[in-house]
Amino acid sequence: MNLILLGAPGAGKGTQAEVISRELGIPQISTGNILREAVKNGTECGLKAKSFMDAGGLVPDDVVIGILKDRIAEDDCRNGFILDGFPRTVVQAEALEKLGVAIDKVLEINVPDDEIKARVGGRRVCESCGASYHIQYKPTKVEGICDKCGGRAVQRKDDAPETVVERLKTYHQTTAPLSEFYKNRGKLTVINGQSSVDETSALVLDALKA
Ligand code: AMP
Repeated sequence: MNLILLGAPGAGKGTQAEVISRELGIPQISTGNILREAVKNGTECGLKAKSFMDAGGLVPDDVVIGILKDRIAEDDCRNGFILDGFPRTVVQAEALEKLGVAIDKVLEINVPDDEIKARVGGRRVCESCGASYHIQYKPTKVEGICDKCGGRAVQRKDDAPETVVERLKTYHQTTAPLSEFYKNRGKLTVINGQSSVDETSALVLDALKA
């Protein structure tokens, strides 16, 4: 099953992608995590991406499409994958089609902007494996330490309030049109993401069975 998770930054895509990945045994592919790793390692791609990420904008399509193309060609994607944070532009969605990637379902997790702004301050991400946490809604067992790999669970630099406002603007202008794109292809299911993590997961898993 090839899946796409859409939704604003902080809507819970990463958290729900982890749940689906466990349930279906297919990998979660987060372009944000791949890019953060590239920035941390100072690779050429990371150097290109950093200024866009720090400003709350999007990394150029050609860079991200290249990353995605390489990642889905890896062996663990044979039986499917969950795209978390890709596509973010119509050009990226069209690139997937040009690559001949058949998408089975697109789930959009819907959370109003005011709630996103309130939530994002509590978000933490593991520096090593990229696992998602929230100090209130999904805390680590030991404060600041990733449950999965023991890495440091830290606040992302681009979760600062002023950058979040910019990221939400980018989302509404550039990424939100993808709802229409996938609705027109009969692939879209919209999920209310305002409840607890577990309740949202139940809705997500139901949508996958439908
Ligand atoms: P995320 O972790 O998904 O919120 O992504 C963090 C940042 O990485 C975004 O704000 C963008 O700057 C960049 N990014 C991640 N995925 C993409 C994408 N598909 N297209 C362009 N930029 C992306």
